[in-house]
Parts: sequence; C-alpha cells; structure tokens
Amino acid sequence: MIELLGIGHFFELTRSEAIMGFFTPLIVYAVFFLVQLILPGRRVPGYVINPETGKPRNYRLNGMLVFLIMLIVWAFELTGMPHDWFFRSSIYAVAGGTVFAIIFTIIATFTQPEGKVKSRFLACWFGRAQEISFFNERIDVKMYMYVVGGSMLSLNALSGAVYHYQVFGENANPGVFIYAGFFTFYILDYFVFERVQLYTYDLIHENVGFKLIWGCLVVYGWLFILPLWGMAAYPNPGFSPAWTNFWLIGTSALFLLGWSISRGANLQKYTFKRWPERKFLGLIEPKYIQAGDRKILYSGLWGVARHLNYMGEGFLSLSIALIFGYFTNFWAWTYLLFIVSMFSYRQLDDDRHCAEKYGTKKWAEYQEKVKYRIVPGIY
Ligand code: NDP
Repeated sequence: MIELLGIGHFFELTRSEAIMGFFTPLIVYAVFFLVQLILPGRRVPGYVINPETGKPRNYRLNGMLVFLIMLIVWAFELTGMPHDWFFRSSIYAVAGGTVFAIIFTIIATFTQPEGKVKSRFLACWFGRAQEISFFNERIDVKMYMYVVGGSMLSLNALSGAVYHYQVFGENANPGVFIYAGFFTFYILDYFVFERVQLYTYDLIHENVGFKLIWGCLVVYGWLFILPLWGMAAYPNPGFSPAWTNFWLIGTSALFLLGWSISRGANLQKYTFKRWPERKFLGLIEPKYIQAGDRKILYSGLWGVARHLNYMGEGFLSLSIALIFGYFTNFWAWTYLLFIVSMFSYRQLDDDRHCAEKYGTKKWAEYQEKVKYRIVPGIY
C-alpha cells in the first residue's frame, strides 16, 4: 500500500529516529512558545470584543520576528538538525502532533466553564473558550498557533525541497523549488499583514477546540504540504524548454493572481473595518448597507462576490496543483481538494453567521446586491 502510494521514502527511519520524529512537534511547540514569549512584540487592540470588559481584546504580535529566527536556525542547522529532517519525519510528526493536539484540546476544553454544547465530544471538537491567553495577554493561544502552523508550513516545504534535491540533484524538478518559494512567500505575506488576521473568521467565529488546535498545529503546519509527500519522489518532468517556460511562468502568474485577489479582498475589508469612510488604496469608495450599528461592505472586491478572497485562495491552490508538472498525479491535487471543500463549507457557515449578526433582512439586501458567493458569474 505504502509503495502503491509512492511514499516509501517516509518509512526509512530507524526506530530511534521514528521516536524522535514523533516528539519533534512537541519540541517545536515548546520552542515557539518560549521564543514568542521572550521576543518583543507590538501590542495592538483586536477586533473581537472581550465580553468581560466590553472592549476589544489585546494581542501581542511578533510572528515575523519568530518566523525569521526559526528560518535562520533551520537554514544554518544551528540545532544540528539536518535540513531534510522535518520532511523525512513527516509521518511520525503528524502522529505525534495529533496526540499532543488531543492532549491540548482536553486541557483547553475542560478547564473552561461548560457552554451551550452539552456533549463532551462536541465540546472538545468545537472548543468552549473563544480565546485563551497567558501572562497578561503576552501570548494569545490562537495567534501563537498561527505562528507555529505558518512557520512550520514554510519550513516543511523548504525541508521537502532540500530532500528532493538530495535525491535527484541535477535532475531535480524546478517546480518543487518554486512550490517551496510559493509557501515561503505566502507565510512572509501573512506575517507582514499579521494584524489583518485579527479580523478573520477564525478569530471571530472559532473557539479553541480540536478543530482549531489540530487544524493550526498539524494540518496547517505539516499536512498542507501533502502534495509534496508524493511529488518529492518525482524528477524533473522533462518538458521542452518552451513548454517549461510556459508551465513555470504561467503557474507562477496564476499564484500571484490568486494571492493579489485574496490579499486585496482581506485588506479592503480590514481597511473598511478600521476606517469605514476611507477609500481603499485611495481609489475605491466604500459603499455599505447600514444594519443597526454594523455595516455591510459591498463595493470593490466585496461587490463582485461575497467571498472573493476564497476564489483567490482557489487560484492559488490550483497553481500549487500545476507547479509540479505532473498534471494527472493525484498527490498534486490534494491541496486544491482540501481548500475547495473547506471554503465551500466555510462560506455557507459564514453566510449563516452573518445573516444572524446583521439581521436576515439586511443580509438578504446584501445578497440581492452581490449575487455570487465565491466565483462571479458562476457560484
Ligand atoms: P473573512 O476574512 O472573509 O471573514 C469573514 C467575516 O468577515 C464575517 O464573519 C464577517 O464578520 C466579515 N464580513 C464578511 N462579509 C462582509 C461584508 N460584506 N462586509 C463587512 N464584513 C463582512 O474570511 P476568513 O477568515 O475565512 O478568511 C480570511 C483570509 O484567510 C482569506 O483570504 C482566506 O482565504 C484565508 N484563509 C486561508 C486558509 C488556508 O488554508 N489557505 C484558511 C483560512 C483562511 P464581522 O461582520 O463580524 O466583521
């Protein structure tokens, strides 16, 4: 079965290496926690209101600094860990990361007061507390998990690229290196705009339960590179020079298009939330529907579809499927499949939440003005 899946390379570890692989996430989680705690950060008010004070929650952001330090530690092998370790230990790390995520979930759920959800299983899955923070809001659990997940996504992709080069050398697939570049760029961009994350679904609607903990610490950090699990074992697809240029440049352009749409939409909403009357990029007039003391934006990118940012993520995931140059290989498409399923569900869920928050009448007025959910003219 393992050979059939083409991931035999993950099962070459010795017994002690496998045990080390299992504990790697725990060590990573602890190191990130300490580094994030110790390093300076900027304190900012968030978007979500703390029900105890009636004021926005406070956050301490230092993701970029933490990420760059971890990147340097990995690049110069400062801990003695080889470059390809994260990739080679993936299977054992996912197993260990999942076990630790279950333990964190139990702690995060049962140390909190019982909420509306009575089932213990569902309480663990969705979580009870909207936020958990430590040391006078020096560490916010959600933002901490995003720093771990994002940084590990990039490090796992880079580690896989090094592994691939060690196996194939001159015959390596350039798509694999561009793939690692895509995710490193994606994560750098995330940290540049870390504050924008405070205005997103996970912060607004999610609680600290298994869904979020495992999602950030294991899925985001380790499993997002699933296409590479299979594709790292394939050499340069060997296209003609003209087709190689078309494939690599075209796919990179698709990635940048997806990123621009997604980043543009997120920034426009962020600008609108902080300064409701300010033109986006000095150009796009904010138009909105007033719903009580809330405002529904419907101009610019938010006038084209109700979640154009998800379409941007879709283009970006399509570029990831295409960048390996093995267009019929199932592994290459796993990330796109995940993203399409996740965002189809999330859009429906967000729509439901928004109809509650803004009132069904006003939300219906918005749906009338902006007819498409994600893809203009299609869906
Ligand atoms: P959004 O940033 O769109 O957040 C949804 C919230 O925004 C709503 O609950 C609502 O909250 C507010 N909102 C929605 N529509 C409007 C409107 N028209 N006017 C005013 N406010 C509105 O979604 P996500 O948090 O899911 O996504 C954020 C980004 O992160 C996206 O680019 C997404 O693609 C990306 N992402 C990527 C993932 C990945 O795996 N690659 C995973 C998750 C996210 P309220 O009214 O309370 O402000």
